[in-house]
Amino acid sequence: MVRYVYDFHQGGRDMADLLGGKGANLAEMTRLGLPVPPGFVITTEACRAFLATGAEPEGLVREVSRRLAALEESAGRRVGQPDDPLLLSVRSGARFSMPGMMETVLDIGLNDDSVLGLAKVSGNERFAWDSYRRLVQMFGSTVMGVDSALFEQALTLLKDFRGVPDDVHLDAGDLARLVETYKNLIHDETGEDFPQSPAEQLRRAILAVFQSWNGDRARLYRRREHIPDGLGTAVTVQRMVYGNLGHDSGSGVAFTRDPATGRPGLYGDYLPDAQGEDVVAGIRNTVPLAELERLDTRSYRQLLTHMRTLENHYRDLCDIEFTIERGALWMLQTRVGKRTAEAAFTIAAELVDERLITPAEGLARVTGEGLARLMFPRFDASATGEALAHGLPASPGAAVGSAVFDSATAVRLAAAGEKVILVRQETTPDDLPGMVAAQAVLTSRGGKTSHAAVVARGMGKVCVCGAEELTVDLERRRFTTRDGTVVEEGTVISVNGSAGAVYPGAAPLVDSEVMRYLETGERSEGVVTAVARALEQADGARRLEVRANADTPGDAARARRFGAQGIGLCRTEHMFLGERRKLVEEMILARDDFTRERALAALLPLQRQDFIGILEAMDGLPVTIRLLDPPLHEFLPDRTELAVRIATAEARGDLPDPHDAELLGAVSRMHEENPMLGLRGVRLGLVVPGLVAMQVRAIAEAVVERTRAGGSPKAEIMVPLVGAVEELRIERDEVQRVLAEVSAETGVPITCPVGTMIELPRAALTAARIAEQAEFFSFGTNDLTQTTWGFSRDDVEAEFFSAYLDKGVFSTSPFETLDREGVGRLVQIAVAEGRATRPDLKIGVCGEHGGDPDSIHFFHGEGLDYVSCSPFRVPVARLEAGRAAL
Ligand code: ADP
Ligand code: MG
Ligand code: MG
Repeated sequence: MVRYVYDFHQGGRDMADLLGGKGANLAEMTRLGLPVPPGFVITTEACRAFLATGAEPEGLVREVSRRLAALEESAGRRVGQPDDPLLLSVRSGARFSMPGMMETVLDIGLNDDSVLGLAKVSGNERFAWDSYRRLVQMFGSTVMGVDSALFEQALTLLKDFRGVPDDVHLDAGDLARLVETYKNLIHDETGEDFPQSPAEQLRRAILAVFQSWNGDRARLYRRREHIPDGLGTAVTVQRMVYGNLGHDSGSGVAFTRDPATGRPGLYGDYLPDAQGEDVVAGIRNTVPLAELERLDTRSYRQLLTHMRTLENHYRDLCDIEFTIERGALWMLQTRVGKRTAEAAFTIAAELVDERLITPAEGLARVTGEGLARLMFPRFDASATGEALAHGLPASPGAAVGSAVFDSATAVRLAAAGEKVILVRQETTPDDLPGMVAAQAVLTSRGGKTSHAAVVARGMGKVCVCGAEELTVDLERRRFTTRDGTVVEEGTVISVNGSAGAVYPGAAPLVDSEVMRYLETGERSEGVVTAVARALEQADGARRLEVRANADTPGDAARARRFGAQGIGLCRTEHMFLGERRKLVEEMILARDDFTRERALAALLPLQRQDFIGILEAMDGLPVTIRLLDPPLHEFLPDRTELAVRIATAEARGDLPDPHDAELLGAVSRMHEENPMLGLRGVRLGLVVPGLVAMQVRAIAEAVVERTRAGGSPKAEIMVPLVGAVEELRIERDEVQRVLAEVSAETGVPITCPVGTMIELPRAALTAARIAEQAEFFSFGTNDLTQTTWGFSRDDVEAEFFSAYLDKGVFSTSPFETLDREGVGRLVQIAVAEGRATRPDLKIGVCGEHGGDPDSIHFFHGEGLDYVSCSPFRVPVARLEAGRAAL
C-alpha cells in the first residue's frame, strides 16, 4: 500500500520530492536535534492523486487521523479540547521553493468554545482572541475563498475606530468583536458559516493547500521559473507555537550570511509579539535581528548556535524562519537560501576558504548567468522611480542616454561625445552602426531573440525589446507611452535591461567591478576575487575550448582579453556594408566580367586589411573565417523604398534616376519569397563568379603578410549552408586552388584547413560523406534550429512563441536553449558519423547556443571540441564549460 504520511522523525532532506522542500527540511532539523514543533507531512503523491481525481486517495484520511492521534498523545492535549486545545498549522511546500505562492493556515482547532479554554490556560485573553481572529481570517480567505482585502478593511476600520496604530494595541474585547465581524463577513460572502468543528477545519485546510498548487499565482510562478506543473505540493501539519503571546514572544526571519552581498554575519528581522507572516507583511516595523540580543539574549545565542549548525550541515547559506514563545526558541523553517549573483560568488569562495566545500563544489554553486549579470553596470535600485514603460529584458544591464530615433543620429551624437539610447520599432542590420554607438537599444516590437536583442546581447549592450506600451513615431522623432507621456528626441531616459524597464531621466548607475577585472585583469577585493577564482577553477576543469564570434580586430582583441582561445566564427558580411556597399552593388549589378572583376578587385585590399587586423589580434590562435553567407539582395536598397523613390520622381514629372531604375530591376530579379532558404551560403559561391576567389585571396594574402611580419596566423576557411558533399567538394577545390596560387606567387607556405558549417538537417544526416571533404565541422545552431523546426526565426517569435510558451510546447525558445530532443539528435548523428569518417575531425559550435549555459552542457556531453560565442559571453562560456566538466 502507498504511504501518504510521514512523521518529521521519519523524513530527511533527501526526501524533498515526496515531502516538499519545507517538509523535508523540517524533518532534517528534527533529526539534527533542533527545536522543531512536532508534526507530520502529507506527501506530494497524495496531492497528485487528489488533483487527478478530486478526492482524497484511499487511506489518506485514516493515516492522517493516526498521525494526529500520536501528535495529541505526545502533546498531552487534543485538537478541539475545550479547556486546553492543541492548535495546528497547515502549511504548503513543494519540491522547489515557491515563496508565498501557495497557502498556509495557522491556529487550526480554535472555535467559540476552545478560544475560552486557550485564554484560560495561557492566562492571556488577548492572545487567544488574536489567534482566533487570525484563524478565521486565514481560513476565510484561503479555504473559503473570501477576498482577503475585506478582512483587512474590517481590521483597519476597527483600528481607526479605536484610534490605535496597529494590531498589538487592540485588546481582547476588540479582537472578540473582530471575530464576530469576520464570521458575519464569511457568512455574507459565502452563505456558509465558519466551521466550528476542528476536524472539518483540518480536512478543508489540507485540501485547500492541495488545490493552491493550481492557483493562478502558483501557475504563473512555475511558468516563469520553469518548474514542472505535475509535481504537486506536500502539506505539513504541525503543532503551533505562539509568537503572539506578548513581549517575551515574537517571530523572525534570518540568513546565515547576507543574501545580497554574501558577506558573513547574521542578517534578518525580528518582530516582537507577532505570528506568522506579520514579519514580512510589513504591518508593523520589524527590528534588525541584532536587536534580539538585547531583547532576549538566551534565545539570540541559541539562534546563533542553530544557524551555525545548519550552515555546517547544509554547507551553504541557509535562511530560517523562527518563533520565540515566552523565551523558548522554535525553528519553523530552513532552506538553502536564494541569493544574488554577487552573493553566490562570494559565498562559494568563502565556503571553500572555510573548507566547508571543495573548490569543485564551489564552482558548481555559481552560474554563467550570474556572471553575466555581474558584468553589466547596474542601476541603484532604490533610486529609479516609476517606469515609463516595460518590455522584455533582452540584454541585461543599465544604461542612460538621450533618446534618438535613427542610426545616423546615434552615430553623429555619439561621435560628439553624447550618450544615446537608440529607440526603434525594431532594428535591422542597417541599424548596426547606431547600435554600436548607443548605450542601449529600446524597441517597441520583437522578442528576446529579435535582431535588436541578439545583436545587443552579442555586443554586451543593454537592450529592452518588445516594449509594446510605447508608440514610436520615427517621423516626429518621439515616442509616446501608454499614459500619454511624450518623450522627444534628445530627452534623457534610463533603460534597465535586466528588469525590462524604461525610466525617465538619468537613474543613478553603479559600475561593474567584474567587468573592469575582465578588461584589465585588475583584481579588487570581494566579489571580483571570487569571480576570478571561479574562472580559474573552471579553466582548470573544462575540456571544451571557448572561442569567440568576432569580425573586427577590436572585438577579437577584447575576446582575447576575456579568455577566448580563438575565433570560431568570423562573419564576412559586415565587411560588405557601409562605404563598401557601392562596390558590392557594382559587383552584383555587373553585366560583364570586366565590371565585376573591377569591383571585386576594389574589394580585395579592403577585405585583406580586415583579415590582417583580426589575425594580428588573434595571433597564434585559430581564426575561422566564414565565406559570404547572406543573400546578395541584403546589400541592395529596399525594394519598396526604391519603388517609392521612382514613383515620387515620376509624380513630380521628373525622370527617375536611371541608377534607381536599374537597381529596382536587379532587386526585383533577385527578390525571393524565402530568402532564408534561397540563394545564400555555399550556393552563392557556386553561382556568383569570382566571389569566393576574391575572399579566399584576401585571406591568403593576409596570412602571407602576417607570416612575413613574423606573426603566426592560423586562418581556417568555413563554407556555410552546405547540404551535400558535392557542394563542398566544388567549393573546396576552388578554395584550395586560390590558396595554392597565392602560396606559389609569394613563396610563403599557407596551411589553411577548410571545413563547413553543419546547419541543414541534410548536412547532419550525411555527415559521414561531408566529412570526406571537411577538415572541421561547426554547428550553425541558429540555422539548424530554423531548418529543423521549419521556423522562420525573424517571424515566429513575435507571432506565436508566447502562445507556445504559455501552452507548454516548449519551456524556453529553441533559439535560446538548444532543443536537445530534435536539433540535439541531429548534432549527435553528425558528430558520430563525421568522426567515423575522420576520427580527428575538429567539431565546434557557433551561434547563440554557444554562449547558452544549458546548451554548453549538452555540447560538452556530446564531445565537441569547442563552443564559440560573442566576446561578452566568453567568460560565461568558460565558467559553464568548467561546470559541465565537474
Ligand atoms: P511560506 O511558505 O509562505 O513561507 P509557511 O508555511 O512557512 O509559509 O508559513 C508562514 C509562517 O507561518 C511561518 O513563517 C511561521 O511564522 C508561521 N507558522 C507556520 N507554522 C507554524 C507553527 N507551527 N507555529 C507557529 N507559526 C507557524
Ligand atoms: Mg515560510
Ligand atoms: Mg547560418
